[in-house]
Amino acid sequence: MHDVLIAGGGIAGLSAALILGRCRRDVVVYDSGKPRNFVSKALHGFISRDGINPIELRDLARKELANYPSVRYVEGEIVDAQEIEDGYEVELSNGAFDRGKFLLIATGVVDVLPEVPGLERFYGHNVFHCPYCDGWEMRDQPLAVYGAGETGYEYALELIGWSKDVILCTDGGEPLSAEQTAHLGKHGIAVITEKIMEMRGEEGKEIRLMYRERPPLSRKALFFNPAQYQASPLAEKLGCHVTGGGVVEAGKFQQTKARLFVAGDAARSVQLAIVAASEGVEAAFALNTALQKEATEK
Ligand SMILES: Cc1cc2nc3c(=O)[nH]c(=O)nc-3n(C[C@H](O)[C@H](O)[C@H](O)COP(=O)(O)OP(=O)(O)OC[C@H]3O[C@@H](n4cnc5c(N)ncnc54)[C@H](O)[C@@H]3O)c2cc1C
Repeated sequence: MHDVLIAGGGIAGLSAALILGRCRRDVVVYDSGKPRNFVSKALHGFISRDGINPIELRDLARKELANYPSVRYVEGEIVDAQEIEDGYEVELSNGAFDRGKFLLIATGVVDVLPEVPGLERFYGHNVFHCPYCDGWEMRDQPLAVYGAGETGYEYALELIGWSKDVILCTDGGEPLSAEQTAHLGKHGIAVITEKIMEMRGEEGKEIRLMYRERPPLSRKALFFNPAQYQASPLAEKLGCHVTGGGVVEAGKFQQTKARLFVAGDAARSVQLAIVAASEGVEAAFALNTALQKEATEK
C-alpha cells in the first residue's frame, strides 16, 4: 500500500508529488498525458517562468522529481477508483490495480469550445479563453469577445483593461438589455448579434468572422469564456460535489473526504498554473501531516 496515489501529473499533481517526495513519502503519480493547455505555446504569469513552453515546464518538474526516490511517475490513465478500508484502490486502463492510503485527484478540466465552424484551429494561437494568460500579448489589438447575455456583457467590459478596441459578438445567443448595450457603447464596445457562420483567417495573425448578412469582421484575436467539465469522472464517482461550473468543491487544504483530496483546475475557479501548483502544495502539506499522525498515534 503506497502512502499517496496521485491521479494526474499536471502542475497540481507534480507539485504535490515534489513536496511529498521531500517528506520521504511513498508516492505514485499516474498521468494520461493530456493537460488542459495542450494547445498553448507559452505559459504566462508563473513567477520566474513567465512565457515558458508548458511542455518544458512539465519536463522540468518531472526531472526534479527524479531526485526523490520515493516518488514514481507512471504514464497511465486511472479509469476507476473505490474506497477501501484505510485508503483507495485504483484501476488503470491496462487492467492493473494499485492501492494508496490517500488519493489526490489532480486530473484537471476540459474546456468546451464555442460551436463556430473553423474556430478550433485558432485555439491557442489567437483564440483564447483567459486574458490573464494571454491578454498582455494581445494588448491594444483589435479584439472580439465571444459571449452572450450577462456573461458576454461582463467579459467584454473586462477585456477593455487590455485593449480599448473590443467588439462583443453574441453569435445569435441570449440578447443583451438595452441598458447593457448602451453601457457597452459608452465604453466604446460595439455589439454584433448576428450568428457567426464560420471563422477564417491566419493562425496567430488574424481571425475573420464570417456572417451571412454583414461583411466579415477582422480581428487580431478572440476571447471566449468556456464551459468546462471534469477531465476524469473519478471525483464525482467517489462522491465529491461537482458544481454547475464543472469544478469540485474542496475544503481546507483541498480535502474533500478523510482520505480524498482534489487540487488544481479540477477544484478551483482561479484556474492558473501557479494556483494549481499552490493547491498541490496545500494538499501535500495536509497529506503529510495526516500520514505522520497515523504513523505516530499507534
Ligand atoms: C489554452 C490554455 C492556455 C493557458 N495558459 C495559461 C497561462 O498562460 N498561464 C497560466 O497560469 N495558466 C494557463 N492556463 C491554465 C493552466 O493550463 C491550468 O491552470 C493548469 O494546467 C492546471 O493544472 P492541473 O494540474 O490542475 O491540470 P492539467 O494541467 O490539465 O493536468 C491534469 C493532468 O491529469 C491527467 N489526467 C486526467 N485524467 C486522468 C486520469 N483519469 N488518470 C491519470 N491522469 C489523468 C491529464 O492527462 C493531465 O496531464 C491555460 C489553459 C489553457 C487551456
